[in-house]
Amino acid sequence: MPLVTSTEMFKKAYDGGYAIGAFNINNLEIVQAITDAAAELKSPVILQASAGARKYANSVYLVKLVEAALALHPEVPMVLHLDHGANFEVCKDCVDNGFTSVMIDYSGHSFEENIEESRKVAEYAHAHGVVVEAELGTLAGIEDDVKVAAEDSSYTRPEDVEEFVKRTGVDSLAIAIGTSHGAYKFKPEQCTRNEKGILVPPPLRFDILEEVSRRLPGFPIVLHGSSSVPQEYVKIVNEYGGAMKDAVGVPEDELRHAAQLSVCKINIDSDLRIGMTAGIRKHFAEHPEHFDPRQYITDGRANVKAIVAHKIKEVLGSDGKI
Ligand SMILES: [Zn+2]
Repeated sequence: MPLVTSTEMFKKAYDGGYAIGAFNINNLEIVQAITDAAAELKSPVILQASAGARKYANSVYLVKLVEAALALHPEVPMVLHLDHGANFEVCKDCVDNGFTSVMIDYSGHSFEENIEESRKVAEYAHAHGVVVEAELGTLAGIEDDVKVAAEDSSYTRPEDVEEFVKRTGVDSLAIAIGTSHGAYKFKPEQCTRNEKGILVPPPLRFDILEEVSRRLPGFPIVLHGSSSVPQEYVKIVNEYGGAMKDAVGVPEDELRHAAQLSVCKINIDSDLRIGMTAGIRKHFAEHPEHFDPRQYITDGRANVKAIVAHKIKEVLGSDGKI
């Protein structure tokens, strides 16, 4: 099977009460880890590339790496998605070069400008068999070079969603209900601490999600910034020379709940980065004599694969859904 769009995936996920994981790809080992886990668990998967990934790896490599993964796992439905396309030109470039899904993120512009740019992308993408995600509301946190302070973030206004979807023709909508980009999603003062001293973030705004779904029945919703920052891996990073103080994410039980509702795509990036770093740091500490990148990257890759498998089974519920 060639790369697919997310249309069929989202329909099944919506009806089945689960979500598809959208994992960020940056290099060979991350592509291998994600797709090996998806194949073992018979789960559909979305591989997404940000502007930073395209700059780091060169988009041509990323497309070819995903095509290679598909050649090895032809039974796995795979989408290649552009994460946070900044404007029409970036989206067009991806549509023209092998992506099957693009996100236009004009959420930092006015409502009317967001509609106009998203509509333009949807028109072009649809004419080329590619689907489109857009965003309403602004997430806090750090996504590649874009940093949004908590006070500049804003929840999605449910009263905007019908007009936005109708006028743009987009296929899915990312909304802001309290998730955040990066490994430091919430400041300590926004959180409480549990008995182990770990930060507990404020709960997601399920009331907004429910109101959006009521206004857009059957329409796939996307959550960005949905890493959970697994503390067992943060601990390994810190034990072996790292300094990730007060890193905190979105609790997995809240994401599981969202996946059972109208959320069909959940974006996960930071957790994979932390897993890769934990594996490599531990390897360096335990084998200071090693200098072959294959030795230490193997441990990082194994962690990424384990994390993806955990997400598929315990958070997304997409295992066995091929
Ligand atoms: Zn995002």
